Amino acid sequence: MNLSVRTRFAPSPTGDLHLGGAWTALASWVVARRQGGLSLLRFEDLDAARCVPGSRERLEDDLSWLGLDWDGTPVVQSERGALYDEALARLAGLGLVYPCDCSRAEIARAASAPHEGEEAIYGGLCRDRDPTRPMKRPPALRVRVPDDVVSYDDEALGPFAHNLAREVGDFVVRRGDGVYAYQLAVVVDDAAMAISHVVRGADLVASTPRQIWLARILGAAPPRYTHVPLVVAPDGTRLEKRTPGVTIRALRAADLPATTVIGALAHGLGLRPTAAPSTAVEVAEATATGPIDRKSTRLNSSH
Ligand code: GLU
Repeated sequence: MNLSVRTRFAPSPTGDLHLGGAWTALASWVVARRQGGLSLLRFEDLDAARCVPGSRERLEDDLSWLGLDWDGTPVVQSERGALYDEALARLAGLGLVYPCDCSRAEIARAASAPHEGEEAIYGGLCRDRDPTRPMKRPPALRVRVPDDVVSYDDEALGPFAHNLAREVGDFVVRRGDGVYAYQLAVVVDDAAMAISHVVRGADLVASTPRQIWLARILGAAPPRYTHVPLVVAPDGTRLEKRTPGVTIRALRAADLPATTVIGALAHGLGLRPTAAPSTAVEVAEATATGPIDRKSTRLNSSH
């Protein structure tokens, strides 16, 4: 047992679980379970407009069909506004927050996790403007990032170093409509849930410097990061959460056993030498201790 190892799977309840979601769910679950740690579940449902009623229950059901179980009660972000208010107040107290009434389209993207290629660096137009000026619209709140480099060693992808001012830019922590941004909520929750290893899809890697910086500012030790390459279909299409792809529901409807799905995913993740049917528990038991790392993760696997 090593209860200090704590991972989380953090789906947004915006639809049924896809193979890509199952892939990261298995990876984060195995990293915890093979070291005798805890694996937690969190629903990222802050952007109510994107959430689909009933999707949370369906996700839980699909995960349990796959044999993935979770420690404790799932954390639901929409119930944690007070924690985010507190973090925002701390950032504001440090003089890091400013209102931004730039275009809605740019700001709207901030509540959900920005996946690869979805983000532009904010030019800083509102940074030095009078925060008490009349606003063109209810302003979003941004944090002022310093001209500093954040470096870290991703356990799957290797070392990274990013200059916050030049490569990241001031980012939104609360949208104009009052919805907290993914970047703030994820950092507050990873700290509150004492997550030691964030294991998630490689399409979220660009968020990491922001999250490490925010965690430090808020007085939390940043977790370790493992960005697992996304599952790729035989035709080369990436099966990530937002790309319509094979759902676990569809595989269940086709009477595919869960062990077949887990065996294929585990092989793709480099956790098993073959794609032979397997339970999630067998995958965790058969794998050496230590997180999924760049030696064991197979890039562009086709399972
Ligand atoms: N909820 C995010 C998503 O659906 C995942 C966030 C994370 O793992 O940090 O992409």
